[in-house]
Amino acid sequence: MSKKKPDRKKERMKLYKKVRNTSSWRSTVIYLLLILLFIAMMIFLSGFVVEYIFESKFKEGYKDAERTAKLYEKGQTDSSYLKVLESEDSDFFVKDDNGKIIYQKGKNTCSDEGGELEITNGKYSYCVYSDKEIDIARINKDGSFSLNPAEFVKWYTSFEDSARLPLWVSFDLDGGKKLLCKTYLSFSSLDRILVIELLAGLAIIVFVFCLLTVIKIIKSAINFRRVVRLFYSDPVTNGHNWMWYVRYGEEKLRGGRCKKYSFAVVDIVFRNYRNYCLCHSISEGEELLSSMNRLLCSEMNKKEMCAHAAMSNFALLLIYDSEEQLKQRLNGFIEKLKDIDSEHSFHIQLGVDLIPPKTDAGGRIVKRRDISIENAYNNACTASATLADSEESGLRIFDSNLLEQQKWENTVQEKQQSALDNEEFVVYYQPKYDPCTDTLKGAEALIRWESPEYGLLTPYKFIPIFEKNGFITQIDHYMISHVARAQKKWLDEGKKCVPISVNVSRVHFAEPDLAEQIRELVDKEGAPHELIEIELTESAFFDDKNAMLRTIAALKEYGFDISMDDFGSGYSSLNSLKDMPLDVLKLDAEFFRGDNAGERGRIVVSEAIKLARSLNMRTVAEGVEIKEQVEFLAQQHCDMIQGYYYAKPMPAQDFEQRIQPQQ
Ligand code: C2E
Ligand code: CA
Ligand code: CA
Repeated sequence: MSKKKPDRKKERMKLYKKVRNTSSWRSTVIYLLLILLFIAMMIFLSGFVVEYIFESKFKEGYKDAERTAKLYEKGQTDSSYLKVLESEDSDFFVKDDNGKIIYQKGKNTCSDEGGELEITNGKYSYCVYSDKEIDIARINKDGSFSLNPAEFVKWYTSFEDSARLPLWVSFDLDGGKKLLCKTYLSFSSLDRILVIELLAGLAIIVFVFCLLTVIKIIKSAINFRRVVRLFYSDPVTNGHNWMWYVRYGEEKLRGGRCKKYSFAVVDIVFRNYRNYCLCHSISEGEELLSSMNRLLCSEMNKKEMCAHAAMSNFALLLIYDSEEQLKQRLNGFIEKLKDIDSEHSFHIQLGVDLIPPKTDAGGRIVKRRDISIENAYNNACTASATLADSEESGLRIFDSNLLEQQKWENTVQEKQQSALDNEEFVVYYQPKYDPCTDTLKGAEALIRWESPEYGLLTPYKFIPIFEKNGFITQIDHYMISHVARAQKKWLDEGKKCVPISVNVSRVHFAEPDLAEQIRELVDKEGAPHELIEIELTESAFFDDKNAMLRTIAALKEYGFDISMDDFGSGYSSLNSLKDMPLDVLKLDAEFFRGDNAGERGRIVVSEAIKLARSLNMRTVAEGVEIKEQVEFLAQQHCDMIQGYYYAKPMPAQDFEQRIQPQQ
């Protein structure tokens, strides 16, 4: 399973990049180029056809000109030939080798430009010149043929049955002389129809092709838009999805236009979504998400973004001026979302990652070229995850400590099981002394993690993480077993054992068969029950009271003592004291610190001890570090002191030294 995940992500990213890099203008350009190519081909083809027609017509015109040239040459020796020529309706002139006209008949309208025209069958090779009066067809110097289309069309459409296009053909005569003879390309109306039909046909083909191509362009543009919309739309909310958020959000964050804005990447979690779906239905849950999406979108301004990121998470990209104003706005969102359904109130939790403008060394605002919106959103999620345990709505802004904390939580979670299997968790014992006699009366078992990588870790570093991820149950079992094992060992060694208290987490206390679990663990190690005491924190007493009473009653029945830990640290639990048959009251270390150590603090401590005594409970004062406090507690008949004054928590070998051998 774990191997497949990255592949799926890769595929998703590939698809995402493909859509990201594809846009309709590319195919449009390709289509337009195709159209241009087609038109060019058509022009070339029609030019080719017209040229072909002209060339075939030349062949006819050439014969007349050739005859004129022959007659002129014969006329040099026999003037009767010249007379024949003179009587005919032909225009020609002869130039000597200096280019001077030595003979002329008719009007000389030959243009000076001309070139050698290569006739298709290769039989004819002669110079052809345009006529000055009708500048329609021209033979270029390189022999290519060009047509003045506008003039041609004008001329071509102006004649009725037939038309003649004048051109001049030159022949080389003896003695370097040159005869240029006017000849005509004769076009019948049939030719004209042929050419017109041909050109019209080509034009229609071009037009149809262009039309089809344009339709195709429009269609593909519409389809592309549809695909893109589908790709970026969220099926649950009908709004935008995560892909859209990443694609356009990152563009916005990186772009030059928004570089001066401060952005906030926000993760909004609808915490009790699962419960809502369980109580109602998935479709009702989705309808609710859809309403939330609409509400959030209506709160966005033009440059801001809102998308449905995951099951019950929304991703926002907001612009803000000041943190204060942003918090106010976000709290406004929370209020609106909480009450979106008049019959329910929801827990809405927000995590925020702030992205201020980026500046260079000179203090100038520059583009945020390397920013990753996914990382920013991850940070926002890290921030919102810190609220996950609370059943309250709220918002949390990300800072780098949070990331460190998150990383550490992940590390602990990864290593917890192997650490347990390798017995890296060790039991430290903090002795409890009678302040009147200075004798050892008990101890508290406190966990330490001897990590090969991180050294000796105190419980604050990992117990809250275990409480969060549920591993604490195994830890509590581990500690009870180890303490019971140690007690049994010390008893077997003939030592005078004292009761050792073990902390049982509030999370664990919710289990209905906890008393049985503890009994089984202790019995398995063979330790007497009265040597094991169970510590419960004060806050645990606010949970299900009846369940708590049942567990306490069962534990007491099995012979375990029970103490209330951290008394006075939180809300007053005097009521619990009245209702629960507890054996020991542990006064929280806070009573002996700072301001609390004054007169008023002493009064509270003294009254708490009296209260405990009247309820038949023993008292333990925690966190006592100085002699005066010990003396005061002794005067107040506090039963035991657990504090640095007597001893810090210590490894088993050290604690062993303090237990007396049995007398
Ligand atoms: P706690 O149960 O209130 O434990 C007492 C804490 O106060 C211990 O911290 C102890 O070292 C410290 N302490 C005792 N006397 C003094 C003193 O004179 N001065 C000062 N500054 N501190 C003193 P520790 O060992 O770091 O444990 C912290 C907390 O972690 C414990 O508070 C308890 O809530 C939790 N914990 C420790 N071990 C376990 C365990 O095995 N299971 C569970 N569920 N929680 C544990
Ligand atoms: Ca404790
Ligand atoms: Ca305590």
